Amino acid sequence: MLNPGYRADIGIIGGSGLYDPGLLKDAKEIKIHTPYGEPSDLIVIGNYGGKTVAFLPRHGRGHRIPPHRINYRANIWALKSLGVKYIIAVSAVGSLREDYMPGDLVVPNQFIDMTKSRRYTFFDGPQVAHISMAEPFCEFLRRRIVDVGRKLGYRIHDGGVYICIEGPRFSTKAESRVWREVFKADIIGMTLVPEVNLACEAQICYSTLAMVTDYDVWAERPVTAEEVSRVMASNIDKAKKILAELIPQLPPEPQKDDCSCCEALKTALV
Ligand SMILES: [Zn+2]
Repeated sequence: MLNPGYRADIGIIGGSGLYDPGLLKDAKEIKIHTPYGEPSDLIVIGNYGGKTVAFLPRHGRGHRIPPHRINYRANIWALKSLGVKYIIAVSAVGSLREDYMPGDLVVPNQFIDMTKSRRYTFFDGPQVAHISMAEPFCEFLRRRIVDVGRKLGYRIHDGGVYICIEGPRFSTKAESRVWREVFKADIIGMTLVPEVNLACEAQICYSTLAMVTDYDVWAERPVTAEEVSRVMASNIDKAKKILAELIPQLPPEPQKDDCSCCEALKTALV
């Protein structure tokens, strides 16, 4: 599965607004073909803080690919083929609770999957795998992101339930109330699933850095496009500063005592 010629330590998947990490030195763009088709875009590979980093914009540059059309399997396969040990996934989300405010950062620890029509696994048979999703995110990576965010003085929430909807439409008010009051979800987005579970199947440490852009429709607080783009720009700036601080600190290999992501398939194969 390794890609001859190129290697990277850390993968970054950029969400809405983050199409260029802006940190990488000696950056090259590489095209990776996968058995699942084309990834969302060329992968930018370069150096930062003693690490080799591979960056992939989830929606493609210029935001060409809607959430339900993203080739999640090709994206994760491409990063795995470079040998990345970690994926930091950045994404814009809506908030389902008052105290997760626009401009806040959230590092979720659970998700609820309400998607409908995606390719959820690398194991389509004859090999079958039932991967455990009890703790879907890498706790080691989550911790590091939260610590760095706090050190930088940002409002960053340690944990939260991310509900992933199919999109591309937003929720109705009735749906938004269900997500919030019945499902007790905290943030809402369209791209976490199946990215998170495919990363787990690929045995890569994965964590999301979610950036709250606005309150979901339950709040009945209409926002202007100008407000949203102002909040997004400030969020992207925070995400870049977190990445700049975090990347140099990550050990070359995740420590066995800290997480078991690299062994996720051990008990999953049938
Ligand atoms: Zn891990």
